[in-house]
Amino acid sequence: MEYIPAKSIVNRTKDPSWFGADYIMNIYRGCPHGCIYCDSRSDCYHNDGFDQVRVKEDALRIIRNDLAHKAKPGVVGTGSMSDPYNPFEQELLLTRRALTLLEAYGFGAAIATKSDLITRDIDVLTSIHRTMPVICKVTLTTCDGSLAAKVEPRAPSPARRLAAVEQMSRAGLFTGILMMPILPFLEDNSENIRAIVNRAADAGARFIYPAIGMTCRAGQREYFYQQLEERFPGQGLAERYRRRYGARYRCTSPRVRALWDVFEESCNRRGLLHSMGHIIAASRRGHGEEQLSLF
Ligand code: SF4
Repeated sequence: MEYIPAKSIVNRTKDPSWFGADYIMNIYRGCPHGCIYCDSRSDCYHNDGFDQVRVKEDALRIIRNDLAHKAKPGVVGTGSMSDPYNPFEQELLLTRRALTLLEAYGFGAAIATKSDLITRDIDVLTSIHRTMPVICKVTLTTCDGSLAAKVEPRAPSPARRLAAVEQMSRAGLFTGILMMPILPFLEDNSENIRAIVNRAADAGARFIYPAIGMTCRAGQREYFYQQLEERFPGQGLAERYRRRYGARYRCTSPRVRALWDVFEESCNRRGLLHSMGHIIAASRRGHGEEQLSLF
């Protein structure tokens, strides 16, 4: 394991409207899940060797120091540039120990992951949830295990992720699905959208937050197209992307309107929240909003 220096780890977020997180925390750099569409491969992040996980040196001491010097407690988001529950976390326990620090200093948590390892920390998350909001977000772009094995080759299967959602929901944690990205020409069909909503609701999820399409930047784009050609040979997918989107950043599904209707109708029928405002408000219920900076 390579260790990299860091001055601070818990920093103010630039976008507090994203699940109500006031701060952002990334203990790891790089991610081993291998998602072919990952935005973190973009040149602008200078994440060379992205598939290799590195750890910030002396992370827990830095996190403790960061938390102790924040003027106000708030919700700490993690999981935006790497998965906090990568396989190394099983032994290193850094995410778990960071969560215990959040609890000790009175902070909440908003976690995004593709790993069912998060269920190991249900006890700590439940303790935090007694005083501050906790949002558990599990990413799911398809329920089809064989498709997921191609587009998210080293991440836990959709079935394992849904089982994790069920376990956390049963434990009383505010848990839902990040349904993003929905890849154009691969995952943007009504069967997939309905399956995700129904399986999420069956597992006890409270919300689904969607992106019916993907974003693409230099570096990420070339890798994605190369992977499409290798993993879906003879289907001309990379060429379809090139023709439709060129160098565009937002690659919205051509079927977005119809799929949005399917998504909304399915969520309403199954009682799942899907707007950011409602999700944040529900996560804060019972937590004395006066303590928290409102979006
Ligand atoms: S889990 Fe997230 S950070 Fe890791 S490779 Fe996949 S998209 Fe990238």
